[in-house]
Amino acid sequence: MSEIEVNPPQRPVQPAQLTDESVIQFRCHPDVACFNKCCQQIDITLTPYDLLRLKRRLDLTSQQLLAAYTVPFEMDSDGLPGVKLRTEDDSPRCLFLTDKGCGIYEDRPTACRYYPVGLLSLRKTGSPVDEQSYAMVREEHCLGHLEPREITIADYRKEQEVEAYDVHSRGWRQLILKKKSTGPKVGSHTARSLQLFFLASYNLDGFRSFALSDGFRAAHDLDDATWESLREDDEALLEFGYRLLRQVLFGEDSIPLRGKPVESATEE
Ligand code: SF4
Ligand code: SF4
Repeated sequence: MSEIEVNPPQRPVQPAQLTDESVIQFRCHPDVACFNKCCQQIDITLTPYDLLRLKRRLDLTSQQLLAAYTVPFEMDSDGLPGVKLRTEDDSPRCLFLTDKGCGIYEDRPTACRYYPVGLLSLRKTGSPVDEQSYAMVREEHCLGHLEPREITIADYRKEQEVEAYDVHSRGWRQLILKKKSTGPKVGSHTARSLQLFFLASYNLDGFRSFALSDGFRAAHDLDDATWESLREDDEALLEFGYRLLRQVLFGEDSIPLRGKPVESATEE
């Protein structure tokens, strides 16, 4: 079985695997004595949709956002690229933390929304679908666990408005799970396909230029509405990127080509 941890959990995770119906005792609010402590020591992996929301919020280009607010890292031993939220230079404190709390609260990343719940995506070997479950992270400094409020994980997810974050990163998580469970079918093109993974996942402006380039348009057989959506709709562009990565990493026939086998278009 392959497993991907989507948020916090290099931290003290409680062993129980939880479902949407599981009840947790937790509440975080500005009057709790530990307010902001969790944001002073962060290790947050960003999803493509996290970056999209930050880009809009801060009104930056993808390049500006990546340079100012992220740090690259490798998600696996093949060098699958990931990005983490940058911290202050001399401490693990989040750059968005203010005296009043999170300075980008409405657009805070997935991991901040779920905390102290860890989202786990699992795929059984040979299974075409992934399953979602949860785990609790319990850190000593976090007093929210002592607050007298019980809530199901389903209601906690609603309260934290994670739905759009889950929907727009699901295809990306599935790619990572599939790579973990089957390995990429890229032969000698690994380095290039990993570059494309970075472009489609994290550099939306760069990926839009790539997808709308003459060479790409000449090789792919899409209708006018789809080309238009790639030009105008960031979420549609993200989803298209996941489809393209399925083709490039795993040889899936996920995007119609103009008279070329997938292998040769993938190479181009
Ligand atoms: S983005 Fe906001 S909630 Fe997340 S760690 Fe930074 S300050 Fe805290
Ligand atoms: S209760 Fe936990 S999540 Fe909330 S501010 Fe305190 S440490 Fe952070």
